[in-house]
Amino acid sequence: MTRKKTPTSASQPTTVKVEPEPTAKNDRRPPLPVKVQNELWGRAAGRCEFKDCNILLYEDSLTGQRHNAATIAHIVAAKADGPRGDPVRSPLLVKAIENLMLTCKLHGSLIDNHEYVDQFEEAVLLDYKRKHEQRIKEATAALDDQRTALLVLQGRIGTKLSRINLAEVRKAIHPRWPGSDEETTIDLNDLIVGEDRASYWEAASEQIKDEIKSLLKKLKGKSAHVSVFALAPVPLLTLLGFQLGSRVDADLFQCHRDKPQDPWCWAEGEPLSEDKFELFEPETVDAELTDIALVVSVSRKILPSLVNSTLNIPHARFEIRARSTGTDFLKYRSQLTLFAAEHRLVMKMIGEQFPKVRRVHLFQASPIPLAIEAGRNLIEKADPEIIVYELNGDTYLPALTLNAGRRRA
Ligand SMILES: [Zn+2]
Repeated sequence: MTRKKTPTSASQPTTVKVEPEPTAKNDRRPPLPVKVQNELWGRAAGRCEFKDCNILLYEDSLTGQRHNAATIAHIVAAKADGPRGDPVRSPLLVKAIENLMLTCKLHGSLIDNHEYVDQFEEAVLLDYKRKHEQRIKEATAALDDQRTALLVLQGRIGTKLSRINLAEVRKAIHPRWPGSDEETTIDLNDLIVGEDRASYWEAASEQIKDEIKSLLKKLKGKSAHVSVFALAPVPLLTLLGFQLGSRVDADLFQCHRDKPQDPWCWAEGEPLSEDKFELFEPETVDAELTDIALVVSVSRKILPSLVNSTLNIPHARFEIRARSTGTDFLKYRSQLTLFAAEHRLVMKMIGEQFPKVRRVHLFQASPIPLAIEAGRNLIEKADPEIIVYELNGDTYLPALTLNAGRRRA
């Protein structure tokens, strides 16, 4: 038997054991250098790095009590016989930041358990760590170039009050963040449309003009960005856009009623062909005409007969129409760019085909950002006067005039 060949002697000291018995001291991991621990806490932003956990580790989420609920887990175990351990790699990676995860106690115990090694292989844990740390890095990278000024317009639609929730708004502007004291809220809820409609439009217009003027003054000289959230009657939205102008860099947002969790966030992805617009030009061109109807049929179709009976004067009609009209048509941010291009094209065609144009009558069945865009897109002084119509019941009434006095009669 081989054992007998091994030279053994009773006199051999017992201390010459090759494999020492594991002791409590040997089981303990070597302490991690403080600078490695600090870096890991920084990278993880004090949150569990396990997939979808994200729990805050320096305070109790219910009571707010400060305490350290973190574990630092080794992806490749500190010891060769630990989970995902390796005789060569374990000692090399024992203090390496790339091999460490900041986790809650529960997830630390899953990682540090032989039973779950098949489920949480090295590559899986590395992916959790990388994604968490990348997300933190991006979320905290906001510098001045990611600042935005919030512009909120709320006014009654019909008799209904409009309220915009600022917490929802902040979700939608990510990765931008609102600079402090740079929030402008124009609240028109106290104004009610009564018998004298003209005075409503006048009072609302004055308030919008004043607020935008002071906002633009505040932003002057800064590389300004504005995020616009509005719930108000269509003519006021177009006025808001016109006052804001296209010189200031702005993102416009739509309230998506079918997304109660994050109503102001745009859908991911790009528009399909049915999410685009079609342009309709007048069939015949009478170059002597002074009045043009511009119809925007997006939320629903505006019938030519309604425009004709409202205007009751000779006019030519252009129409920008959604390929599939409906109140949920506007889903993607890039649809705004498509609309702006169509709108600009129409304004150019009006100028070229109708050199005597005096007024453009604007009829809109528009989602909010498109009505704002229709105002932003106008070129002050160069474009004709715009009369913006409101829908009142089933008839249209002139509400506001933009770019007035551009051409002397
Ligand atoms: Zn966790």
